[in-house]
Amino acid sequence: MKPAPFRYLAPTTLDEAVDVLSQFGDEAKLLAGGQSLIPTMNFRLAQPGVLIDLNRIPTLGYIERAATGGLRIGAMTRQRQVEQSPLVAQRVPLLSAAMPLIAHVQIRNRGTIGGSLAHADPAAELPAVVSALGGTLVVCGPGGERRIEVSDFYVGLFATGLAPDEVLTEIELPSQPQRSGFAIQEIVRRQGDYALAGIAVHVEVDGEERCSAARMVYFGVGDGPVVALGAANLLVGERPTVALIEAAAEAAAKMDLDPSGDIHASVKYRRHLAQVLGRRALREAFGRAGVVLK
Ligand SMILES: Cc1cc2nc3c(=O)[nH]c(=O)nc-3n(C[C@H](O)[C@H](O)[C@H](O)COP(=O)(O)OP(=O)(O)OC[C@H]3O[C@@H](n4cnc5c(N)ncnc54)[C@H](O)[C@@H]3O)c2cc1C
Repeated sequence: MKPAPFRYLAPTTLDEAVDVLSQFGDEAKLLAGGQSLIPTMNFRLAQPGVLIDLNRIPTLGYIERAATGGLRIGAMTRQRQVEQSPLVAQRVPLLSAAMPLIAHVQIRNRGTIGGSLAHADPAAELPAVVSALGGTLVVCGPGGERRIEVSDFYVGLFATGLAPDEVLTEIELPSQPQRSGFAIQEIVRRQGDYALAGIAVHVEVDGEERCSAARMVYFGVGDGPVVALGAANLLVGERPTVALIEAAAEAAAKMDLDPSGDIHASVKYRRHLAQVLGRRALREAFGRAGVVLK
């Protein structure tokens, strides 16, 4: 299949990219790694009149320490660079652990962190991971820069808080407290496929061995990343036990989620997966936070 005709622009600075994007608005699409956009153009599911290539803007690709102790990652950083970064492994190990689960290495060589977050596929790992980490997205438009908490960024199926004339430029991830733990679990039909269901978890534990924070974020079971708030409320303030984890995983699957069925998995099967994955991920995350479960 071949895409419909389009005009190709390759700005070399962010200002120039914002300028042309605001000129063409809805008619234009930004091109990052092209691993989602080009197939949809080839199938003619997307027919942008103008393609604005971000690949010639070198200032959008970096991984840096943030002054607050976390990380700042440029939107055009390749997924493979994130995967191989010792800084990411040290500062936000959940992100490192998630990267090999995304597609195949050839796709991660081109695909960018910003492209995946902006694309907002409900089965993608990164929106859930950034939600579990409590990240912030930095976007730039004709009016300048604005920062969007990840909890406000995902607004529906393949929909984000990005305006049509804005470019996602950076992802900020906070530092991880000493007694915190993480896990990512998913079920796929074949290695590299999008998940039938998955979960990213971040937990924190205080000096009395009580859970002081918990974020359980599912993917593949809703319109976007689904934060299991009811389940997290069961955990916070309590000493984690095997029984409490089971109760939280059950609450997440039965009350926090409203999955739909498709040819790959029924609603019932997705709920079952969500409960099993929730239990496994919480056990792993609390284990990493140094909790010995009874
Ligand atoms: C066979 C296959 C399997 C895959 N499996 C998985 C998987 O298991 N998990 C997963 O998460 N992903 C998977 N992907 C998708 C892959 O991770 C893509 O790389 C990613 O979704 C898009 O990133 P990209 O840089 O290629 O963006 P592009 O395809 O270039 O762009 C995607 C969309 O985001 C917009 N966009 C891109 N960058 C920006 C920006 N900076 N600001 C604003 N808008 C922007 C574009 O305009 C476009 O609408 C798979 C892809 C393929 C082809």
